[in-house]
Amino acid sequence: MRKNIVAGNWKMNTTLQDGQALISEIVNMVQDEVTGSNVEVVVCPPFPFLTTIGKHLPSGGLIHLGAQNCHQKDSGAYTGEVSARMLQSVGVEYVILGHSERRQYFREDDELLSQKLKAALAAGLQPIFCVGESLETREADETFDYISKQLKDGLFHLSNEEFDQVVVAYEPIWAIGTGKTATSAQAQEVHAFIREQIARAYDAEAALNTTILYGGSANAQNARELFSQPDVDGGLIGGASLKSRDFTDIIKSF
Ligand code: PGA
Repeated sequence: MRKNIVAGNWKMNTTLQDGQALISEIVNMVQDEVTGSNVEVVVCPPFPFLTTIGKHLPSGGLIHLGAQNCHQKDSGAYTGEVSARMLQSVGVEYVILGHSERRQYFREDDELLSQKLKAALAAGLQPIFCVGESLETREADETFDYISKQLKDGLFHLSNEEFDQVVVAYEPIWAIGTGKTATSAQAQEVHAFIREQIARAYDAEAALNTTILYGGSANAQNARELFSQPDVDGGLIGGASLKSRDFTDIIKSF
């Protein structure tokens, strides 16, 4: 059966010192307050802090390390880039790919994302693959077509075995960092649609086993309602993952 996951996307925030203080608080709170193992916690700090933050994580796999991006090649003359293999070698297990900020500000398209997915999977990382529509698309009533195309062009080229490793995140762009959360009904509707598309592209079992996260202004107040939806298996959390209390409360919302 699929896992519930709460992943914190720190984006381009914190210094090393801030990040260490934050992870220490999160580790303490999670160890004290999160009982049972029905949720996997992932933290995705900026590249330069991965190794140090990784050393703060308790053994036993309560909290896992994720990265926010990777390059599509293994190694070579690509000044300034970081490969999936490098990430794997410092203990990273997950990598966020296709985040709307990467698509928008760094022009990452489906072709490039396909290559990044392959590289991540080849290095043994689990991709958290993001899809989501703009406000304009939603208002034009084209959300489902848009998401179906993102899935088809970006993700569904993977083999069954590769797809098994993928976590999907639905992140409506209009909800990211805006304080405007999708209602639980809006999230559920799109999550169910994504699961149906997976069943069509692969099979019913793959659809049932895929973790689908919601992202976009999720916080300690709305997480419980969102996570109670049958097809919402957790969250990709931006702003609220930078506050240990809020992040822990979100983890406790299952
Ligand atoms: P937010 O970001 O929670 O700050 O809206 C979510 C994300 O972009 O992953």
